[in-house]
Amino acid sequence: MSEFIGDYQAPQDLLKDKIILVTGAGDGIGKTAAKTFAAHGATVILLGRTTPKLEMVYDEIEAAGGPQPAIFPMDLNTATIETFEHFAEAVDQEFGRLDGLLHNASLLGQRTPIANYHFGTWQQVMQVNVNAAFGLTKVLLPLLDKSEAGSIVFTGSGVGLKGRAYWGAYSVSKFATEGLMQVLADELDGVSNTRANSVNPGATRTNMRATAYPAEDPKSVVAAEEIMPTYLYLMGADSRGVSGRQFNAQKR
Ligand code: NDP
Repeated sequence: MSEFIGDYQAPQDLLKDKIILVTGAGDGIGKTAAKTFAAHGATVILLGRTTPKLEMVYDEIEAAGGPQPAIFPMDLNTATIETFEHFAEAVDQEFGRLDGLLHNASLLGQRTPIANYHFGTWQQVMQVNVNAAFGLTKVLLPLLDKSEAGSIVFTGSGVGLKGRAYWGAYSVSKFATEGLMQVLADELDGVSNTRANSVNPGATRTNMRATAYPAEDPKSVVAAEEIMPTYLYLMGADSRGVSGRQFNAQKR
């Protein structure tokens, strides 16, 4: 069942001294989430595939007076388990733990019937949206367990809750994301302080949305800043003990 906590009001120091990883932090919702977490006191690890974009987010966080972030360039499409293990070692050496993990990076893929869907594109979408989230989660769980209360937030979608024609691998990957979140949350229940939940951002003004809906006026959908209360709630102490749940960041 979907839940709504979009009217949550976060204290300014909600994420003080927290170490939070954001994937796909160079653009769109991930960029706004990274800046928002930093504005609430977190040290953010910016992971993405386009270094200049990550550097821009880094500069914006520093200019706003946030804690100095870390940048980790990684293409999730070509990353292997060794890439993830190397990354986890680097996080361990630098920070010794992880308090939050936002799985945000995703590929849209094609908007076309299953019968016409390109096999290679299907594999890439599943790789970035599902396999990479699994791989990163697997290697980072020990570091999340070193936090007093780790939080893993997966990013879902409306088409990951109800299938819709022509959304292909993206839709299927988002169903898988909900499944990964639920299996993990059930495994963590009672044996770990780490929690796992998912958020469906809803229609949000980003490049992905513009690609999916080219005829839409971008101003007719909300800016990423407006959906941040749900992300803050899930990353912060007020959601301790909340796990295995699916949130909609927008009322509909
Ligand atoms: P964008 O396409 O605007 O941003 C996605 C980010 O993910 C980009 O920074 C992109 O990097 C990064 N990324 C993509 N592929 C890879 C890769 N192979 N390796 C590393 N990073 C990668 O998307 P949104 O901000 O709109 O979406 C964010 C999340 O929200 C996604 O999970 C999406 O499915 C979900 N969502 C979005 C909705 C919306 O209306 N916007 C609605 C429902 C769900 P780069 O900048 O280099 O391209």
